[in-house]
Amino acid sequence: MSKHIVILAGDGIGPEIMAEATKVLAKVNQQFKLDLTWSNELLGGCAIDATGVPLPDQTLEAARKADAILLGAVGGPKWDTIERSIRPERGLLKIRSELKLFANLRPAILYPQLASASSLKPEIVAGLDILIVRELTGGIYFGQPRGIRTLENGERQGFNTDVYSESEIRRIAHVAFQLAMQRNKKVLSVDKANVLEVTELWKEIATEVGKEYPEVQLSHMYVDNCAMQLVRAPKQFDVIFTGNLFGDILSDEAAMLTGSIGMLPSASLDENKKGMYEPCHGSAPDIAGKGIANPLATILSVAMMLRYTFKQDAAANAIELAVGKVLDQGLRTVDIWTDGTQKVGTVAMGEAVVAAI
Ligand code: NAD
Repeated sequence: MSKHIVILAGDGIGPEIMAEATKVLAKVNQQFKLDLTWSNELLGGCAIDATGVPLPDQTLEAARKADAILLGAVGGPKWDTIERSIRPERGLLKIRSELKLFANLRPAILYPQLASASSLKPEIVAGLDILIVRELTGGIYFGQPRGIRTLENGERQGFNTDVYSESEIRRIAHVAFQLAMQRNKKVLSVDKANVLEVTELWKEIATEVGKEYPEVQLSHMYVDNCAMQLVRAPKQFDVIFTGNLFGDILSDEAAMLTGSIGMLPSASLDENKKGMYEPCHGSAPDIAGKGIANPLATILSVAMMLRYTFKQDAAANAIELAVGKVLDQGLRTVDIWTDGTQKVGTVAMGEAVVAAI
């Protein structure tokens, strides 16, 4: 029976990178006889323009019915000043929480061809292969109460709540340990347990769950130290397991180790491995419409989707190998370009990957 994917191209560079990812999807669908179908829906700023809300009911309904979701990026300056509760990013947070996509997997892998594009010395990053497992539907991004209130003295005060229940920590911990079992069997749990009680509990539960995986070596690190270690000696890490806020920041930092945020895919999974797949970067309004965005993170997100949701490892490998081949050919979008390589635009990069499959 055919499986269905809902595509949410979104805003900014979203439609540009998604056009190339869709070409790659079409190619592997035909070559590996995957029997996948797909359709487009609105999310983010484009949805606000068309319907007044960032996550229209039709989109949510289609996403619920789909077997997987492929997302470009949402947001941009055009919608930055509208009422906070209907901003594009709220649509993204809502679809993640409505679909219970609590496990965010962000690999930071350095393609050897891009070692010189990293801001760190090649010997520090060569061979880098980290997996950040970030909790995605809890913590301070969702905690109540939240808002901006006016105090009695007339001063305004912003406030958010960082909150994690034991069961939320436990289920993401299991995901981290299970993935570590398929890798180098090392989990680093990141917290700020010296000042934040919520992460003291995080550390305690991580330790408890770790006992169920005796083969996995568990260690703990404060988030500030982890941020430092990521640029000092990133190859010490295998699986980094952390909450929503710390994971957001650390994964962008890890992204830069690999040369560009334009290279990094991600998966957000529910209990049944249904997932939403998207590049780690945003809608890059500064380069939108110029045809220069790097489509590889989105293309690699297609590979993750094929691997994790559709269990099509051969097709996923074919895409990843094709990306390696185009890098070998010396093709580079502007974000990963270095002297001696050939600068290409979004479409040329996408079509080169299709040709290399
Ligand atoms: P961003 O990731 O969009 O851009 C950061 C920098 O990286 C920019 O200089 C951009 O040009 C560059 N960049 C990003 N993706 C690239 C690519 N594929 N190829 C080449 N260069 C790339 O982050 P930002 O500027 O902080 O945010 C811009 C908008 O995106 C905001 O509205 C933000 O809310 C939104 N955003 C959305 C998501 C998402 O949809 N998941 C994630 C992060 C930010």
